[in-house]
Amino acid sequence: MNNNSIYYICDQIQSSPNAFHATSTLKDVLISHGFNELFESDDWGNVSEGHYFVTRNDSSLIAFTICPESLSNGFAMVGAHTDSPCLKVKPNPDLFKNGYYQTSVEVYGGVLLNPWFDRELSLAGKVSYLSVDNSVKTSLINFESPIAIIPSLAIHLDREANKKRSINPQTDIKPIWCHKDLNFDELCINQLIKQGHTEVDSVLDYELFFYDVQPPSVIGFEEDFLVSSRLDNLLSCFIGLDAMIKAGNKRSTLLVCTDHEEVGSSSHCGADGPFLQSVLQRLIPDTTELQQCVHHSMMISVDNAHGIHPNFSDKHDSNHGPILNDGPVIKLNANQRYATNAETSGFVKHIARLNNVPVQSFVVRSDMACGSTIGPITSANIGIKTADIGVPTFAMHSIREMAGVSDVDYLQRLLTGFFEYEKAFV
Ligand code: ZN
Repeated sequence: MNNNSIYYICDQIQSSPNAFHATSTLKDVLISHGFNELFESDDWGNVSEGHYFVTRNDSSLIAFTICPESLSNGFAMVGAHTDSPCLKVKPNPDLFKNGYYQTSVEVYGGVLLNPWFDRELSLAGKVSYLSVDNSVKTSLINFESPIAIIPSLAIHLDREANKKRSINPQTDIKPIWCHKDLNFDELCINQLIKQGHTEVDSVLDYELFFYDVQPPSVIGFEEDFLVSSRLDNLLSCFIGLDAMIKAGNKRSTLLVCTDHEEVGSSSHCGADGPFLQSVLQRLIPDTTELQQCVHHSMMISVDNAHGIHPNFSDKHDSNHGPILNDGPVIKLNANQRYATNAETSGFVKHIARLNNVPVQSFVVRSDMACGSTIGPITSANIGIKTADIGVPTFAMHSIREMAGVSDVDYLQRLLTGFFEYEKAFV
């Protein structure tokens, strides 16, 4: 693994505490590599050869390269999601109790709540506000410093804690800020002004999410592991982006990173919304040509997989226990919770071999429920053949997840090989 690229990905994850900031980071990288921004409110006309991207809701992004002479071979598409499970500030969050200012929170997605205790938390996201000229504006804000914490209850006050502590998401996880009674809207106004938005008159609403300020790190006795918040699924977003940039324009390629996967993808900017379909229709307005293009295309939906945990190995099927640093995992499920089929798995294995990348297979135990991804949703909506893959990880949906350093390199090479594969996927 090239050390530079692992630390580059660490920096990108650190700059992306939520889906809005992740999209902003993706956008910055694309602009720095010469991609042109398109806006959904504009007439795109005939989009010719080149590199482009478009965002929706500031939290989902589609980037693509058009290579006209090979567009008849379809797109090599990679999909991932920008959001991660976390704690979101409620609309009227102000609380003052026992001499402490706290903000009430909702749980966003399937958060593993225990690891959120005793972490140094900051807050970031999107704010809408009225400016002094009476117009509604939005801006991303990020407090950056560790402004709050959710302390554990001492074991002396709960002797059964190690045996049966459960967490009530309404009462137990309100972050503590300080002793002073504060007003949350004022905090947002001050932060907007601090970030240069001096025209703010009042805050109208916000989508703000707590995050752990601890940066990602490469750890382990032999530095085999990457630990960080939001590896699910920013690792896939940024590796996909890097692969797309490295691959250049040997064929037409597309990267779609959407919000709201952790809450079902059903939104105007989520994978179950019309964003991707609408972009494809603009690129290929003729219905028959679009259908032919989709038929020749393939998507790799990239989202992390569960590595077999040596302390809990009975949670895996004994023949399907992916190991960290042994390569990306092809995910299969007979009930279509993953979109992979024999044909798409075949393409992934073929491209992996061409690029000397090992791959592993995962199916969930037959007596356990299976997770899902944007793969089956996108495949069903667009009609595109899809494979679900991802790097094996531990502690999925914890505030501190863990992946293998070599898998970052393997996935990057696999996706670059996919984006460079010059034939149609038929
Ligand atoms: Zn995910």
